[in-house]
Amino acid sequence: MMEIQVKDISKIYGTNENQVIALSHASMTIQEGDFISIMGPSGSGKSTLLHIISGLEHPTNGSVLYGGTDIHNGSDKQLSAFRRQKIGFIFQQFHLLPVLTAYENIVMPLLLDQRQADEPYLETLTSLLGLETRLSHFPHELSGGQQQRVAIARALSADPDIVFADEPTGNLDSKSGNEVMKMLCQIQEKMNKTIAIITHDPHIANMAKRHFTIIDGILTEVRAS
Ligand code: ADP
Ligand code: MG
Repeated sequence: MMEIQVKDISKIYGTNENQVIALSHASMTIQEGDFISIMGPSGSGKSTLLHIISGLEHPTNGSVLYGGTDIHNGSDKQLSAFRRQKIGFIFQQFHLLPVLTAYENIVMPLLLDQRQADEPYLETLTSLLGLETRLSHFPHELSGGQQQRVAIARALSADPDIVFADEPTGNLDSKSGNEVMKMLCQIQEKMNKTIAIITHDPHIANMAKRHFTIIDGILTEVRAS
C-alpha cells in the first residue's frame, strides 16, 4: 500500500452561533502495517476524522494524501471507486444483508466491483476469524460476535490498503468484544494488515501498536516514554 498523509485537517459544521469545530488541525501519517487506535470521549471528533480520512466526508481545510494524491480533489465518482477498492469499513452495527449467507456477505464487495474472489486468501481470513463452519449460515443464525467477524471478513475480502473500524465492539458484550478484538489483532499481525480503530475503551485502544487520543477535535499521538 501507499503511505497515507493526513495534513492539517479541520472540519467545521454549521455557521455563526451554530458553529461546531469538530476537528482542529489534525495531522498524522499512516504506514503499511500500522495498527492504530484513536481514543476519545463521545463527541470528540473520532467519527468525523475517520470519515474524512476515508473520503466519506470532505474537510473544511487540509488534505488527505494516499501515495501523494489528494483524495478530496477528485470527482465523487472517483472517490467512491477509490473507497470501494482501497478501503475497508467495520462499523458498530454489523450492516450484514439478512437475505445473504455469511459467505455471500463476505464476497459482496468483490461482486460489486466485478472481481473474482481469491479463495486461498478468503480461507486464511475466515479461518483466522473462526468462521469456517458458519459460512453458509444467515446473519440471524449467528451470534453478535460471529456477525461482527463476518463483517470483518467482508471489510478485508477485497484486500484493501487500510481498514477503518469505528467502535467495532460497541454493540457486543465484553466477552465477545474481546474475542473479536483478539482475532482482529491476529489478522493484523499474521496478514500484515493496516488497521485504524476508533474506540472510547482504553483496553481496546491498548491492543493497537500506535496510540492517538482526540479531545475536543485535537488529535495527539501518545508515544511510549
Ligand atoms: P465522536 O465520533 O467522537 O463521538 P463526532 O465526530 O461524531 O464525534 O462529532 C464531533 C462533533 O461534531 C460533535 O460535537 C458532533 O455533534 C458534531 N457533528 C458531527 N457531525 C455533524 C453534522 N453532520 N452536523 C453538525 N455537527 C456535527
Ligand atoms: Mg462516533
